[in-house]
Amino acid sequence: MIAGIELGGTKTVVAIGSAKGRVVEEYRFPTTLPEETLAIASQWLAERGEPRCIGIAAFGPVGVTPGRENYGQILATPKPGWAGFPLIKTLAAAFPSAKLTLDTDVNAAVLAEATIGAAKGLDDVAYITIGTGIGGGILSGGRLIHGALHPEFGHLKVPRRPSDDFPGVCSFHGDCLEGLASGPAIAARWGRPAHELPADHPAWDTQAWYLAHGILSLLAIVSPSRVIVGGGVSQAAGLHAKINAQMVELAAGYFPPALVPDYVYPPALGQEAGICGAFLLAIS
Ligand code: ADP
Ligand code: ZN
Repeated sequence: MIAGIELGGTKTVVAIGSAKGRVVEEYRFPTTLPEETLAIASQWLAERGEPRCIGIAAFGPVGVTPGRENYGQILATPKPGWAGFPLIKTLAAAFPSAKLTLDTDVNAAVLAEATIGAAKGLDDVAYITIGTGIGGGILSGGRLIHGALHPEFGHLKVPRRPSDDFPGVCSFHGDCLEGLASGPAIAARWGRPAHELPADHPAWDTQAWYLAHGILSLLAIVSPSRVIVGGGVSQAAGLHAKINAQMVELAAGYFPPALVPDYVYPPALGQEAGICGAFLLAIS
């Protein structure tokens, strides 16, 4: 039995699936306190058998490098009760014979999109999520990038759109990309949540402007051949086209990967990218 757990800021998905990354059966429930959330996921799995391997795609920051002191722990998150939680230790106690593989939710998603999704067959891909936060996972030369911790695309400092004086909502940095363009930033800036804003609302030009600046930095540093933009806010009609138009303008004839009409794609796996990636991590 191959199992996957996608631990999200608001919801958790636990599933059993195939070695090809397909979901066989899944259960979604709200993420509450860590002990309770892990107990629900473990019990659901245990009722279905004994997993041989479990892939875990977790929100960050989280220690993802085996052997490091912080491996398997949720780190400095503003999410109440979660900072310092020993995620892998807790799962290892519940499933002592299972092989556990942990990565970030966005690294799992980029792995899934590059294996069976919108970037199938590509070795250099980035996956960006825009939801409650902003995050980015990077596959470079076929390898998932970690670094000293893992990339924190959402906390990039981006230039200010001229005449924008919105202070930003990031609890650490104020006006980083996440502070300016996440779901909560949109709600604070426009007084209505993203899913209630019509497609012709000026919010979407502001979004495209900031996201394209973030993606330009990514392009300048790791040069993905394609960027997938997912997460709740990415479901806004026409957003990918607006980001693509901005990208062509910002690339200014210089960055070849971005000079195609569609550099930025929606995820082919939709909201399933994270959990499919968890299975692929499990068998990796
Ligand atoms: P999380 O980051 O907690 O997993 P999601 O990725 O589901 O959450 O993103 C939640 C955000 O997505 C909210 O800010 C919500 O307003 C926004 N959202 C959900 N559906 C849409 C939509 N169709 N268009 C634009 N924004 C949306
Ligand atoms: Zn920040």
